[in-house]
Amino acid sequence: MSRAYNFSAGPAVLPEEVLRQAADEMLDWHGCGMSVMEMSHRGKEYMSIAESAEASLRELMAIPANYKVLFLQGGASSQFSMVPMNLLRGKGEADYINTGEWSKKAITEGKRYCKVNVAASAEDKNFTYVPAQQTWKLNRQAAYLHYTPNETIGGVEFHWVPETGDVPLVADMSSTILSRPVDVAKFGVIYAGAQKNIGPAGLTVVIVRDDLIGQTIPGTPVMFDYKIHADNGSMYNTPATYGWYFAGLVFDWIKRQGGLQGMAERNQRKANKLYAAIDGSGFYKSPVDPACRSWMNVPFTLPDEKLDSVFLSEAKKAGLLALAGHRSVGGMRASIYNAMPEAGVDALIEFMRDFQRRNG
Ligand SMILES: *Cc1c(COP(=O)(O)O)cnc(C)c1O
Repeated sequence: MSRAYNFSAGPAVLPEEVLRQAADEMLDWHGCGMSVMEMSHRGKEYMSIAESAEASLRELMAIPANYKVLFLQGGASSQFSMVPMNLLRGKGEADYINTGEWSKKAITEGKRYCKVNVAASAEDKNFTYVPAQQTWKLNRQAAYLHYTPNETIGGVEFHWVPETGDVPLVADMSSTILSRPVDVAKFGVIYAGAQKNIGPAGLTVVIVRDDLIGQTIPGTPVMFDYKIHADNGSMYNTPATYGWYFAGLVFDWIKRQGGLQGMAERNQRKANKLYAAIDGSGFYKSPVDPACRSWMNVPFTLPDEKLDSVFLSEAKKAGLLALAGHRSVGGMRASIYNAMPEAGVDALIEFMRDFQRRNG
């Protein structure tokens, strides 16, 4: 059996060691005679799996005690609605930063619930940069500020955390969570779909500060209320049991890699060498401002669009998969999440050099 290097933006590569462990435990988890998928979520075996996953995430991210960790479903996209429903708390306005496709989706959904103030936008330069905080037009009355620390499609990342004073900061960390240390205490809410850096699709992790829970807007469906999930240990209904279990295995794998500091060092090294190869080639180009280039998603273009399909089919033959850019932007995109081994990035760079020699 051979595994290719998978550069998909999500669902994405998972650590091979974890896939093997899950395979070993598939039919009979720890001698209990059944697979994790077949267990009652309320049985003592599953409760231990769920608790240990949460404990590992708390340890990895050093999550303070006054934050709840929720293991939900509905994807990051459901959080585009759950955030306003839970965080408006009687206010009618919220600030959003628009740095690309995912920001725009969050803004569109936010507008259904409140007056959205787009405090800064990178649309003027086709979403290739992060507007400096000095240029933001923040609203002191805002119930919260929402931003997207890493735009998965554009490959634009904040390498700093916005300062919002008393206004709760909300971050869609879907494609950057666990890639580096963050100071959770700076955030009101952090949320992430699992399928980029956490585990299989179907699980959504939400980290929310206690005081922001319990004041939903009237008519909020019970499944959209953070308090319901917090009070029920994310088991008000049947959770995504297998995804939650798998996430726990990934958290433990990250601990073995030196935690978030270890991940950050490796991720930065991987990204730096790929950007250096692009910039030094005189052939490939990165559209993103060097100060805001993502460590996780690396878009690049070839000198002639006509070469794109040749590049993709030859890459595939070389065992380098899913390098096509998002349908909305074209070009190439290499997603190099935590689980992408450094050897995968090296193989991509080697292939790019060889392709250039033959087509440059
Ligand atoms: C993938 C992604 C989403 C969408 O996640 P779903 O789980 O499909 O809803 C939202 N925001 C960002 C930044 C993403 O990368």
